[in-house]
Amino acid sequence: MTSSRLPAGAMEAVLLSLLATTGGPVAATEPATDDTTVTVSASGKRFVTVLGYSVQDRPIKAFFRGDPNGPNQVVVLGQMHGDERAGVRTARWLQRHVDVNRDSGVWIIPTMNPDGFAANTRQNAKGVDLNRNWPTNGWKDSGYGTCCWGGPRPASAPEVRAMRGFLKEIRPDYIASIHQPYGVIASNGKDVAYEKRLTQRLGLPRTEVSVRAVPKREEPQDKGETIAPTLTSWYNDVRPGTSVTIEYVRRPNTHFVRVKAGRGLLRSMRAFQR
Ligand SMILES: [Zn+2]
Repeated sequence: MTSSRLPAGAMEAVLLSLLATTGGPVAATEPATDDTTVTVSASGKRFVTVLGYSVQDRPIKAFFRGDPNGPNQVVVLGQMHGDERAGVRTARWLQRHVDVNRDSGVWIIPTMNPDGFAANTRQNAKGVDLNRNWPTNGWKDSGYGTCCWGGPRPASAPEVRAMRGFLKEIRPDYIASIHQPYGVIASNGKDVAYEKRLTQRLGLPRTEVSVRAVPKREEPQDKGETIAPTLTSWYNDVRPGTSVTIEYVRRPNTHFVRVKAGRGLLRSMRAFQR
């Protein structure tokens, strides 16, 4: 695995060049195992790209399956908090087993916090909770040293900046952001039908989840709604597509994290072939 850092703008260039590829007859036998190979099979293209790098210079990888030019682009984010491990297993299962709809592209990101994954910590290597660091009006510089510190400034974490750039580029129709351990589909009301499909497919109840360390309308006379500094709230505010935060239970079984969640997520996002 290379540790060389891409120059500024290179990620966009890589993605654009991949997106511009229109399905020529590329040799289709090898799985996508590095950052440059593009392979084509019956269920579409497969490739890996690096979105950016963590504080400790680990790559944040996205594994693509399907049609990058299709009208339905979806993102499965296996992990943001490094000690919530089950979604990574879903992502790794999807890398091997997904059958993508003809009109869909599936971006599988096992983790956007590879340092936290390596250390088994919730936060990144600088102690930042990556799901409190998104640049919204609800971001707060408080709680340093606690579980949920939002960082010294909005989008201070390189992991958040990498993911934000990627999402602005890809503009997915659906995002599934996987967490643990509450065992719910976190309702945000942007696309209730999507939430209900997730509830049905994953067998998890739909409920509102409050985000800690976020003030509730401190100055209601001055501002509109306070938007939590989470990936889901940020994305739902800035893009027409929909992100939903999914909380697996603390110890989901293997069937759930692989088949039930893997297929259930893609079906809910209208990206599964069968
Ligand atoms: Zn989490």
